[in-house]
Amino acid sequence: MNQLEAHGLGVAIGEKTLLHPTDLVLRSGELTVLIGPNGAGKSTLAKALVGLVPAEGQVLVNGVRLAEKPARDRARTIAYLPQGQAHSWPLDVENVVGLGRYPHGQTQTDETVERVLTDLGLLELRHRAVTTLSGGEQMRVSLARALAVDADFLVADEPLASLDPHHQFAILDRLQAVTQAEGSSPTGILVVIHDLRLATRYADRIWLLHEGRLVADGHPEKVLTSDHVQRVFDVATTDETVERGGSTIKVALPAAISS
Ligand code: ADP
Ligand code: MG
Repeated sequence: MNQLEAHGLGVAIGEKTLLHPTDLVLRSGELTVLIGPNGAGKSTLAKALVGLVPAEGQVLVNGVRLAEKPARDRARTIAYLPQGQAHSWPLDVENVVGLGRYPHGQTQTDETVERVLTDLGLLELRHRAVTTLSGGEQMRVSLARALAVDADFLVADEPLASLDPHHQFAILDRLQAVTQAEGSSPTGILVVIHDLRLATRYADRIWLLHEGRLVADGHPEKVLTSDHVQRVFDVATTDETVERGGSTIKVALPAAISS
C-alpha cells in the first residue's frame, strides 16, 4: 500500500515559524481533509509536502525520499493544485488538462484526459478558451489538470473555493470515489477546505491546523469536538448530526462568532 510520510516537516522563514515540525501520514485509500483558520499554515503544509517550499524534515513515499526522486518521477508521485491559481493564457480547456500529462512525456489529449474531462463534467467546455470560463469552471479545469497527472497522491489547496453547492458535492464525490476504487489514481488525496460540514461528510481523516501546529489528526468525530472548533476557529458551536455514508455522526460545527 502506498503511503506518504512526513517526518519532522517544518517551515520557517526568517525568524517566523510557519509550520512547526510535524509528523504526518497521507494514506492511500483515504480522503484526508486539511482544515484551519486563515493563516494557520495550510498552504504552507501543502507546499512542504510536495517540496515547493524549503522545509526541514523529510517526506518519504514508500520509504524513498521524495526530494531524491528525479523531477518527472516526483511529478508522477504527487500532483499539486495550488490555491487560487488563475489561468492567464487562452488555451483550450482540453489542452490545459493535457498539460497534466507532461510528466508522462506527452501533452496531447489521451484516454486519461478524456476520462478526467468526462468525470468533471467538462466535455461541453473542452474547446473553449479557458480564460473565457467562469471562476468556478476555471477551478474545475485546474483540478482536472491535476487529476490528469494520474499521480499516486494529490494535494489540492482549496479546490472548492469558487464552486456552487452542486459542484462541491460532485467534486468531493469524485475524489472519494477515486480513493476508494481499486487500481485508479490518485489513491491518497489531501484537500484543503473550509466547510466543516463537507469535511465531516467526506473526510476519512481530518488534519486540524492552528498557528502552524497540528492540533488534531483523526476521524471527524474525534477532531471536530466543541473544544477544538471553539478554540481554533474562535466561534461558538452547536452539536450537529451529519449524515455520512448511510449513517450519522455527531460533531460540533460553527454557529456564531464567539461572544
Ligand atoms: P493558510 O493557507 O492556512 O491560510 P498560509 O500557509 O498561506 O496559511 O500562511 C501561513 C502564515 O504564514 C500566514 O500568516 C502567512 O501570512 C505567512 N506566510 C506565508 N508565506 C510567507 C512568506 N513567504 N513570508 C512570510 N510569511 C509568510
Ligand atoms: Mg491557504
